[in-house]
Amino acid sequence: MPRRVSKDRSKRFSIPRRYRRGLRPRDVIPTDDVGMLIGQTSDLLSVIDEQGYFAYASPAFGRVLGLDPEYLLGKPAATLLHPDDRAMSQTIDLPGASRMTLRFQHSDGSWRWIELQRDSIVRDGRAYVVQVGRDVSERFQAEQHETAQLSCGAGAHSQSLHMLAEATRAFAEVSLDLSALLDRIARHVTTVLGDACVLRLFSDDGVWLNPAAVFHLGPDHLATIQSVLEAEAVRVGEGLTGLVAQSGKSLRIPKPLDPPDGSDQRYLAQLERYGLSSLLIVPLRAQSQVIGTIFLARSRPPRPYTEADQHFLEDIADRAALAIGSARLYAAERDARQAAERAAQRTAQLQTVTAALGEAFTPTQVADVIVREGVRALGADAGSIFSLSDDGASLELLSYIGYPQELQPDHARVPVTADSPLNEAIRSGKLVVVETPEELIRRWPRLARAQAITGDAAIAAAPLLLEDRVLGALYMAFRSPRQFNAEDRAFLTTLARQCAQAFERSRLYAVEQQARSVAQEAVRLRNAFLSIASHELKTPITALLGYVELLERRAMQNGASERDLRSIRIIHDQARRLTKLIGSLLDISRIDTGQLRLDPALLDLGALVQRMVSEMEPVFDRFTFICQIPVEAVMINGDSVRLEQVLHNLFQNATRYSPPGGTITIRLWRQDQSARLAVADQGIGIPPDALPHIFQRFYRAHSSDSHQVAGLGIGLYVVKEIVALHGGLVEVESIEGRGSTFVIELPLTQPAP
Ligand code: ADP
Repeated sequence: MPRRVSKDRSKRFSIPRRYRRGLRPRDVIPTDDVGMLIGQTSDLLSVIDEQGYFAYASPAFGRVLGLDPEYLLGKPAATLLHPDDRAMSQTIDLPGASRMTLRFQHSDGSWRWIELQRDSIVRDGRAYVVQVGRDVSERFQAEQHETAQLSCGAGAHSQSLHMLAEATRAFAEVSLDLSALLDRIARHVTTVLGDACVLRLFSDDGVWLNPAAVFHLGPDHLATIQSVLEAEAVRVGEGLTGLVAQSGKSLRIPKPLDPPDGSDQRYLAQLERYGLSSLLIVPLRAQSQVIGTIFLARSRPPRPYTEADQHFLEDIADRAALAIGSARLYAAERDARQAAERAAQRTAQLQTVTAALGEAFTPTQVADVIVREGVRALGADAGSIFSLSDDGASLELLSYIGYPQELQPDHARVPVTADSPLNEAIRSGKLVVVETPEELIRRWPRLARAQAITGDAAIAAAPLLLEDRVLGALYMAFRSPRQFNAEDRAFLTTLARQCAQAFERSRLYAVEQQARSVAQEAVRLRNAFLSIASHELKTPITALLGYVELLERRAMQNGASERDLRSIRIIHDQARRLTKLIGSLLDISRIDTGQLRLDPALLDLGALVQRMVSEMEPVFDRFTFICQIPVEAVMINGDSVRLEQVLHNLFQNATRYSPPGGTITIRLWRQDQSARLAVADQGIGIPPDALPHIFQRFYRAHSSDSHQVAGLGIGLYVVKEIVALHGGLVEVESIEGRGSTFVIELPLTQPAP
């Protein structure tokens, strides 16, 4: 009765308890001298129990699979077998002997063909299969290919189809990882068809074939062959592989000692040295485009590649190229996504820099921000910023992070003549990057000493460019070698540009600050002068006014001549004007120092306006005054002296800026909670561009100059301040050449009836 290990059991792979306990199956292998001899045999001896587990594995058997025989103990034999051979291995005829060749997997992943002589034994009521094996991998591989070549029957065809399907499956398993896929392809074609394989792909510029994966069945050779073959990029069109890539046609050299014309003898000699004999080189083709090559070789003893081998490898190469195409697409998509993520990150970093620069006003503050944020964003170990001195002769250190203290004195000031990356960046106006310490010392041997202290392994120096002007340089250092990709370079250039712009802003800011403080100082001096001068002038003018009034009275009493009297009156008038002027200047200095105070009381604004108009009418007799005032009192809380001053200013302006003969209309009314007073004239009006400014002190509209009206531009400023102190406001409407209307609004003490 044929016995099979049940499928369920073989899948469970659990280690039976008796093996798990670490017990050797002494009931199978004797412990005596015979047992020792068995242990030393070079035959691949193994015993499988009736459930399919290893009950014994000889050291030689373990060696062939690269495994410790102890490790095999209790493992299901099926797990080591090639999937296609498992079914065969389970066909165990008991009793009786059988012979079969099965593929076992080596610990390095490759397959070993082992020819097994099997027999069954029964010990203590248990059935075992004893296997004595021989490693026939080499012979079997050769035979397999020969069989494939010789038999043109349906069997060979279906086998090769089966192997192709196997290849597709093997490639699909690692289809998302390009480098794993390339390794898998090299390993797979080697296992199936040869001893050594080199897979090459075109470089981006299409000029070179770069090694992408190397595999050799004998692990001892792998390192050597890898170092020799992998290091060599092959130029397209040169050498055997280069020719295959260029022509897109496969090349088969059954015996290298008999090479085709034009072959690279040196190369063939090299292959010979590594024990490679027959060669097959096929193109990797994706969508009719050659993307690389597969180089496959067999080692001695010579087993020449056949035409069938070539076709088979070409078929596998087609599938491999397809898989490479998809893996590349996937990698490209992933790279694009990562690039987008990195770009977003860089943008965020630049925004952080911009935000931080908002707080930086001086060049040093700007440099601190750029160094700090630049070091953080690039993952640098040190960073510094230098500014070019005004005479352009030296670079001065403005800010730094991460340098040892002992380098400071040397680095605080660097002459631009010194040969260094910084100066090269400044001279060329371009970003300078160095990716390894060797490159740094080769290009700037002078820096060897400093490099020994800092340990800088990669550096970047960027000029701070503002249009064509170089303002300084930015320096970033890394303690390990580093490659600067296009994004790093763009980031450094942008950072340097941001720094240069911020420098310029800080310079303008400093200039503006200085101009502002100069202006503020000038204003302060002017105010101080006005205040002192008006106080100094006030006393003599008051005395002058007193004496002139006295003189006028006496002259009138003593019957002085009309001419003398007129002269005295002129002196009197001018002295009064001076008093008023000084009064205004004093008001200004009081306003500036916050000392203009009101002495408010309840008053009837209507009565005050009426009185003022009556006083003005005889003085300005060439004007017609129209006065519209409500009958009932308009009560406000105000300083009558200051309000008189306001009205006086407005009336006087109305007369000064109007040709004689005009009408001046004064209207008082209540509106909401306010008293409103309008003074309208028919004068020269105010140009629209001057309107927003006429309440500023010392401001005079150009129209007043063109009409030759003298003045200082103080009156309306004082009016606005006094009205504001009353809690009111003043507005103006004016049409040039037609007249102006000034309206004052003051809060009423009682609601309108
Ligand atoms: P000043 O009259 O001494 O120059 P003000 O402060 O009283 O100073 O007035 C400021 C400016 O406003 C005047 O120079 C003048 O240009 C303009 N202005 C004031 N009142 C009138 C008005 N009623 N008509 C036309 N322009 C006026």
